[in-house]
Amino acid sequence: RRLGVALVGLGGYSTDLLGPALRLTRHCRLAGLVTGSPHKIAKWQETYGVPDAAIYGYDDIHRIADNPDIDVVYIATPNHLHKPLTLAAANAGKHVWCEKPMAMDAGEGEAMIRACRDNRVQLAIGYRMQHEPNSRRFMEMARTQPFGGIVQLRADAGWFGWRQGADDAWRLDPARGGGAMYDMGVYCVNASRYSTGLEPVAVRAWDETTRRDIFQGVDETMRFTLEFPGDITAACVTSFGRDLNTLHVDCERGWYELSPFQSYDGNVGRASDGTRFTAQLGASPRMQAEQMDQDALAILEARPPRAPGEEGLRDMRVLDAAFASARSGGERVRIAG
Ligand code: NAD
Repeated sequence: RRLGVALVGLGGYSTDLLGPALRLTRHCRLAGLVTGSPHKIAKWQETYGVPDAAIYGYDDIHRIADNPDIDVVYIATPNHLHKPLTLAAANAGKHVWCEKPMAMDAGEGEAMIRACRDNRVQLAIGYRMQHEPNSRRFMEMARTQPFGGIVQLRADAGWFGWRQGADDAWRLDPARGGGAMYDMGVYCVNASRYSTGLEPVAVRAWDETTRRDIFQGVDETMRFTLEFPGDITAACVTSFGRDLNTLHVDCERGWYELSPFQSYDGNVGRASDGTRFTAQLGASPRMQAEQMDQDALAILEARPPRAPGEEGLRDMRVLDAAFASARSGGERVRIAG
């Protein structure tokens, strides 16, 4: 059976990646649209054949409860809407897939997990890298330790995306979850966690924004260091001012890295012994299709998804602590367990 997916927010990610990816899936189909921009509807209907009865606005999203063709609501809006829309979808009895970052803070993330649990629906976070084969191999190497124990990591993620936004530059707006840390810093945090298989205990962060004329109340560049058990550290930089895309792991007897480690077209990498990491799902948007198929199978087989709400929540706790540290000028802040 193919699960019916309603896309919420018809911006760049939905238009360029999720919509086209849905057509490549084996277990999903586009069954509904939720948008505040009526002018976008005709094009989507023309392309995907979504019936009039399956088009919703943000104010009447609760009506999805009455549509049996929709099994899952996929939220791809600015970050401040992830929590209220997740609650609305869960209360309508639909499974929820929500884009990263999960929410604005850990408190919101906890409320989202609670709402999905209370309504007996699944919650999966759009961590597409957790479905990418080379990243999955890194997760496995955290267990098998082919180069000995991990000593330190470096994870850098940045792009010039603050200019982009279908309707306006919400990535520059603190009230809507703007800034590099929410947008790209989560890749560094998530990768540091899945590459070690460990949870960080503390963080130090420094806001290194230089262009305050553009970045007002949001971070352009954030440098942060995660402290893991066993004296393992992850040194991270995230930025809207630089193109950064490398994950490097130093071990007792060698190293391995992916560069890029969060590309739409797949990751590639190498190790100190000459190993190459070249496994590929195929050109973009195959990764998003794989993610949605895996998350659909989790629903169909009634088992947890690879990146459940709890996975997003752990990253939100790190972000909360990192923002607190940056406000104090880089003091060590413990991460809530
Ligand atoms: P975008 O600006 O291109 O699209 C956002 C959409 O939300 C637009 O259609 C806009 O009309 C709509 N919207 C509804 N309420 C809004 C409001 N109050 N303010 C502004 N827009 C509003 O953004 P995007 O790049 O599509 O990002 C959407 C989400 O997807 C974000 O959470 C982002 O982090 C995530 N994302 C994830 C990936 C990934 O690789 N996993 C990639 C890109 C974006």
